[in-house]
Amino acid sequence: MIRTTELSKSFHGVEVLRSIDLGVAAREIVVLLGPSGSGKSTLLRCLNGLEELSGGSLEVNGVRVDADMPSRRKRSSFREIRRNAGMVFQQFNLYPHKTALGNVIESLLTVKKLGRAEAEGIGERLLERVGLADKKDQYPSRLSGGQQQRVAIARALAMEPSVMLFDEPTSALDPELVGEVLEVMRQLAREGMTMVVVTHEMKFARQVANRIVFMDGGVVVEEREPEDFFRDPRSERARKFLNQLS
Ligand code: ATP
Ligand code: MG
Repeated sequence: MIRTTELSKSFHGVEVLRSIDLGVAAREIVVLLGPSGSGKSTLLRCLNGLEELSGGSLEVNGVRVDADMPSRRKRSSFREIRRNAGMVFQQFNLYPHKTALGNVIESLLTVKKLGRAEAEGIGERLLERVGLADKKDQYPSRLSGGQQQRVAIARALAMEPSVMLFDEPTSALDPELVGEVLEVMRQLAREGMTMVVVTHEMKFARQVANRIVFMDGGVVVEEREPEDFFRDPRSERARKFLNQLS
């Protein structure tokens, strides 16, 4: 479903991702872990076509981008990848002047060009899926953080992505609201959604991930099954990371 080959990314000449070879199979749940600044968000943004690649290549659901492709072809491939990969951020980034339903159907109206009635039908079903059918007419300011994040998930699902990317989706939430968002993510995992998740929720990582990818300094240091990783991390850097959490 996702394949990166020697993917690298630099900002102003500083390499923050170095030769990343990552494969994610359909229906697989990969959790990205690593210290602050290790490149997790940058990698997710590359997977979603939000960042230009500095080197290497990326393939998402059959659409390939090479760093050295002609830029026009690259742009159109990136656009296709963005449609294929739904992204959920730490900050929910909802449109404040649109209702929950309005947020969810925005891309259906503007990108998929559906009629309003059809889009609203789909949007209502998506809100139901994240447990917010009764909140469809509420504006974001009237929703809790957990509810806003669930609207953001429904919005990402509206484009029927083949993969969902989550960047610390619960980090901005009050502790008592974390569970409801994780539950929606667990449900997506059960339904067979392919997911790449950056999170500090180690219980979620342990229980839901098929694989842990541990990054440090812009490289993948360790890639393991969760049970093995948490019980017996191979690298010194992973051991240190896990010790600091507990
Ligand atoms: P955190 O856990 O704090 O979210 P992270 O693992 O997500 O960290 P990134 O945000 O991917 O790390 O950052 C990786 C490195 O790239 C950092 O050194 C960061 O300063 C740098 N970086 C990220 N985005 C940019 C940018 N737009 N311009 C310049 N440097 C950037
Ligand atoms: Mg980050």
